[in-house]
Amino acid sequence: MGLQKTIRKVVRFKGIGLHTGKRVHLELRSAKANSGVRFIRTDIDEQNIIEAHVYNVTSTTRATSLGNGTTRVTTVEHLMSALYALGVDNVDCYISAEELPVLDGSSAIFAEEILKAGVKELNSPKRFIIVEKPVEIRDGDKLARISPAKEFTLHYTINFDHPAIGKQKFKFTKSTDFFEEISRSRTFGFLSDVERMQAMGLALGGSLENTVVLDGDSVMNPDGLRYEDEFVRHKVLDALGDFALCGHPLVGRVELHKAGHDLQTRLIRELLKRNNAYRVCSWDTSTEELDPELALDESALA
Ligand SMILES: [Zn+2]
Repeated sequence: MGLQKTIRKVVRFKGIGLHTGKRVHLELRSAKANSGVRFIRTDIDEQNIIEAHVYNVTSTTRATSLGNGTTRVTTVEHLMSALYALGVDNVDCYISAEELPVLDGSSAIFAEEILKAGVKELNSPKRFIIVEKPVEIRDGDKLARISPAKEFTLHYTINFDHPAIGKQKFKFTKSTDFFEEISRSRTFGFLSDVERMQAMGLALGGSLENTVVLDGDSVMNPDGLRYEDEFVRHKVLDALGDFALCGHPLVGRVELHKAGHDLQTRLIRELLKRNNAYRVCSWDTSTEELDPELALDESALA
């Protein structure tokens, strides 16, 4: 647990992007300690590297997008969620188009293939962000809050005015089996939104193969749901993907109510902006060390 990790072997995926509908190849390769998760666009020659960090988030409309000023990658959250949950700190993600493959709309295939390839430890201590003071973002009745705690927990509640969803809550702790309980939950959307989203150039690759679609009162997918409360489980999945953009795993209690990519990434930015709200330390030695790179990131946020 005390050492950074990467993947043991190359892992490959191919498919279409949920929003662009474009075909894409994605190849994950092992990376050295302290390099983090990086996306490398293979269809672009210059300025094609984008670090998976919250300071590179360029959009949170329906998906989380990252950019470096000239180049972007989008819908990163399902892969980031699997990497975060499996404890993979460093990996280079070579991608042939701007949007990651949606696969089955969940993180299951990402997690399965990464586990098959195997995860290996690197000879460098893993660093964690320890939350020291509560930070909170409110937007109407939506809430995102993080507060000090001995370990990472995530409490999610949703309340949709739809008979197939309604109120749902889920508590993610270290004893939650990500693979069994979270990774298979799929992205979801309302049929009534589809036309509007497609007019915005979104959801062009969406289908019943990769999205749970709700009409007026029910789930349209012929096989129904994978979990009775699949909706809140997918919100947890997405949130883990956003919290992976902190740069290091978090130690703290996260509470999210009717949140989403926007509130989640705003919460992380706010936390990292406040020097006294967190500290970075390595777990195995419990030697506190301030990370000069993170200090630079803060000035980039200001
Ligand atoms: Zn999602």
